[in-house]
Amino acid sequence: MSWTYDPTNIFARILRGEIPNRTVMETPHTLVFHDIRPLAPVHVLAIPKGAYVSLDHFAAEAAEVEIMDFHRTVAKTCAILGLTGPDGFRAITNAGAHGLQEVPHYHLHILGGRVLGRLVE
Ligand code: ADP
Repeated sequence: MSWTYDPTNIFARILRGEIPNRTVMETPHTLVFHDIRPLAPVHVLAIPKGAYVSLDHFAAEAAEVEIMDFHRTVAKTCAILGLTGPDGFRAITNAGAHGLQEVPHYHLHILGGRVLGRLVE
C-alpha cells in the first residue's frame, strides 16, 4: 500500500508554524492541540509530526519511536485534561472518503467532559 501526503494540508501548516494553534502538549514527535470547532467540553487533536495521511499509514510506516511517543503523549494528555478515571473519554479517527476525513494528516480526536452520543448514525 502506498500513501500520498499533501504537504499543503492545514495540520502540516500548523506544524510548520504557519498557522497558530492552542497547544496542549508537544514532544519531538507529537503535537496535541485544541480542535477549533469543539464538539465536547474537551476536544483535542493528537497528531504525529511526521507526514502520515491516516492511522493505517502511521501504523504501517512510522518508526517505533514515533508510535510509542504518540501513544504516551495521548496518555499524558488524557491525564492533563482530567479524562482518566471512570468518566472516561472517546478517541476516534476518520480516514478517507468513507470516514469523512477532512484533513489528510493523521489525527486522533480525543473527546470528553460529557456523555457522548452513539458513534454511528
Ligand atoms: P471531520 O471534520 O469530519 O471530523 P477530520 O476527522 O479530518 O474531519 O477532522 C478535522 C478536524 O480538524 C475537525 O474537527 C476540525 O474542527 C479541526 N480543525 C480544522 N482546522 C483546524 C485548525 N486550524 N485548528 C484546530 N482544529 C482544526
